[in-house]
Amino acid sequence: MTEKIRFDAIVVGAGLAGSAAAMVMARAGMNVALVERGKEPGGKNYFGGAIYTHAIEEVLPDYRDRRPPLERPVTEAGFWFLGKDGLTKMTVQGGPLNREPADAYTALRAHFDPWWAKQAQDVGAFLIPKTTVVDFIRAADGQVIGVVTDRPQGEIYAPVVIISEGVNNLLTQKLGLIDHDLEPAHVALAFKQVIALPMEEINNRFGLPDDGHGLAVSVLGDLSLGLPGMGFVYTNKKSLSVGMGVMLDVLAEYRLKPYELLQRYLQHPAIAPLVKDGQLLEYGAHLIPEGGYRDMPKLYTGGAMVVGDAAAMVNALHWEGTNMAIIAGKLAAETAIEAHNVGDFSERAMARYEEKLWDTFILQDLKQYRNFSRFLEKHPQFMDVYPNFVNDALGTFFTSYGKPKKELFRELKGALTSRRPLLKAVGDMISMARAVMGW
Ligand SMILES: Cc1cc2nc3c(=O)[nH]c(=O)nc-3n(C[C@H](O)[C@H](O)[C@H](O)COP(=O)(O)OP(=O)(O)OC[C@H]3O[C@@H](n4cnc5c(N)ncnc54)[C@H](O)[C@@H]3O)c2cc1C
Repeated sequence: MTEKIRFDAIVVGAGLAGSAAAMVMARAGMNVALVERGKEPGGKNYFGGAIYTHAIEEVLPDYRDRRPPLERPVTEAGFWFLGKDGLTKMTVQGGPLNREPADAYTALRAHFDPWWAKQAQDVGAFLIPKTTVVDFIRAADGQVIGVVTDRPQGEIYAPVVIISEGVNNLLTQKLGLIDHDLEPAHVALAFKQVIALPMEEINNRFGLPDDGHGLAVSVLGDLSLGLPGMGFVYTNKKSLSVGMGVMLDVLAEYRLKPYELLQRYLQHPAIAPLVKDGQLLEYGAHLIPEGGYRDMPKLYTGGAMVVGDAAAMVNALHWEGTNMAIIAGKLAAETAIEAHNVGDFSERAMARYEEKLWDTFILQDLKQYRNFSRFLEKHPQFMDVYPNFVNDALGTFFTSYGKPKKELFRELKGALTSRRPLLKAVGDMISMARAVMGW
């Protein structure tokens, strides 16, 4: 009879959450299997985006000495409002954004994830790539005691499993921690291009002094055809990450083709000069679970915990997902270490994970923003009407010279009310405040 393969813990998925969890447990002396379906960590991962040093540091305090493959520090951030042929920029630079090290760095997951997983391997985690976990092994009482992989005789045993499978939460469903697929109205399909440009050209086009400065912006307005959707632009060292996300139900209902939407966005008169003559390095798409708190599964059961995107830990307004994944991975790992030390992997022991999450911004923020994705669903005007109005209003303001200003303000009022009646606009602002403040 073949001997059972046993570890102290199994982590499913070597993404941001999974490698963080594996690193923390392995460093504490546990024997950890890190199972990844991709050929190597990061191979199947895709994001905007910016990654946050506070989270990296929590898991790996000396990360700077280990030369992480980060791109540029984000020294300018904010919103761009696209009109039909104009652009209003609302960005901030300097001040807290000049902090060293910066809070946020742009990154490319194909570079960052293998390095992140390597930090886990270096402290002893055993990476098993090209292997998909397809099911769980459970004891008679339902307790999770291992996983089944797609390899021949691919059963691996461990008293605790951390599920960091990302947005396609098939295993989380299989375990009965959530009883439905994510709703298309609460999942965005994000698609982006990585466009290569010489470093100097990027610095010139974005007004950045050197590659020690970088920009990260969310783009609203004339890119999503008035439908719930948002774009982004990130500067990397020698490339740009430019893309957008649109809710899945909207893409289906209006039969929109992501590639065509992205082309339209890239050809916008304000965007085209920024990407001109760039060389397409990568085109890809990935889902983002934007339902937040209301779409979260139960976070644990006997012998298992769910972390990161698999648990819908994303704050879409603030582009926070990487930090939640990394810190949740760490907290799940700490719970597993405590369980390992006392030999208790019961559901009650795993519940500590959720208690720990409540002590952080993760569950506090997700609860506060619990109505935000529904708010956007019901108020698409924030993606189109208002950004367009801002462009027109500022354009009018700065071209109304030598005119009675009463006329200017009449025009501004008209520019708003022709798009949205005044009372409705006031109602929109109140609804927005309520959605953000969690009232
Ligand atoms: C376009 C886009 C832009 C974004 N921008 C930002 C941003 O700027 N800032 C930010 O903080 N967040 C951003 N996010 C969100 C962020 O990327 C995610 O929240 C984060 O990657 C979640 O990490 P994770 O470890 O939970 O999941 P993932 O990073 O998706 O990792 C899951 C891993 O599990 C593996 N896996 C899945 N199933 C199995 C299985 N059955 N067996 C074995 N392995 C499996 C996958 O291959 C993958 O490696 C963005 C997301 C997208 C799509």
